[in-house]
Amino acid sequence: SKPAVLVTGGAGYIGAHTAKALSERGFFPVVFDSLSSGFREAVQWGAFVHGDIRDTRALAEAISDHGVKSVIHFAGLIEVGRSVAQPDIFWEINVGGTVSLLTAMRERGVERLVFSSSAAVYGQGGRGPLETIPESAGKAPASPYGDTKLACEWMIEAQCRAYGLTAVALRYFNAAGADPSGRIGEAHEPETHLLPLAIAAGLGEGKPLTVFGEDFDTPDGTCLRDYIHVNDLAAAHVAALEVDLPAGAYEAVNVGTGQGHSVREVVEAVGRALGRPVPHSIGARRAGDPPSLVADASRARDLLGWEPVCSTLDRIVADALRWEAQPAYGSGRRAGGRKAETAS
Ligand code: UDP
Repeated sequence: SKPAVLVTGGAGYIGAHTAKALSERGFFPVVFDSLSSGFREAVQWGAFVHGDIRDTRALAEAISDHGVKSVIHFAGLIEVGRSVAQPDIFWEINVGGTVSLLTAMRERGVERLVFSSSAAVYGQGGRGPLETIPESAGKAPASPYGDTKLACEWMIEAQCRAYGLTAVALRYFNAAGADPSGRIGEAHEPETHLLPLAIAAGLGEGKPLTVFGEDFDTPDGTCLRDYIHVNDLAAAHVAALEVDLPAGAYEAVNVGTGQGHSVREVVEAVGRALGRPVPHSIGARRAGDPPSLVADASRARDLLGWEPVCSTLDRIVADALRWEAQPAYGSGRRAGGRKAETAS
């Protein structure tokens, strides 16, 4: 039978794409999700268990019921701004939830983990605008969100040493795009990410886009980010699960392309794809936005044998656009519903 992989947060954006990739690779994903921000409709591969990551007993049961041998842990809160306003619940759910998961894994003898970390662990740093970030770069999270991701990494690393857990933390840069099937895609409530907001503005469905600052020390003055296609990111999880590592090993690996794109370039790429310019204005900088976050992606290639295959900006925009024009679930669908009501 297929090896069962527990996918916490598997009803979310990256989790759902990873469940699909696992299934295509011969694994049986067991999605464990509270549906507090994920979508039941996104769970289309493997099994679904409705539960809270802080519920150690429910996790242990899911592990035993499905004969789970390894875990990919996505479940957690992700909005940086909210983490500044409510740091307590970020620590409770992100760090407390990871304590709970590690307890259940150890109790049930599960010894392999892939953890969702973030480029947010690096923070602003003292980098020049065109410098890429290797894994060894200084860690200085600029938000409680980044703090919780770094705290989880430390905790996981210590348990690898202490108990022989084998773990890979993947530090994501900017996940974007959608599966080309149109069955799953990005759906956040509220949506704060650049690409979906730029597409909504371009489609005339959202507010005009506000570009958060054009006076950064970057080539065109807007922020540089490393956009990685969600399916490339999903493939990195499968590679991290399959890579041959000694018991007790802990690895932290950037997942990015090594190539930065400015906010202006993203807005222009959406305009090209739509055949009309995206309405936008220039606003103030957003608190906590570093000028540039671009991965040194060499370690993912060397350790995991992984490299991006569909992360050109135009491909990301094309796949995101297909989804955003007709999302199968999430607020975009409700917006479509609103439009339909207006029309009738
Ligand atoms: N951004 C923007 N307007 C928006 C949303 C985002 O100019 O309405 C910028 C943001 O300042 C950052 C980039 O787009 O430089 C990517 O932001 P996003 O929130 O998508 O991801 P983050 O880099 O914060 O993880």
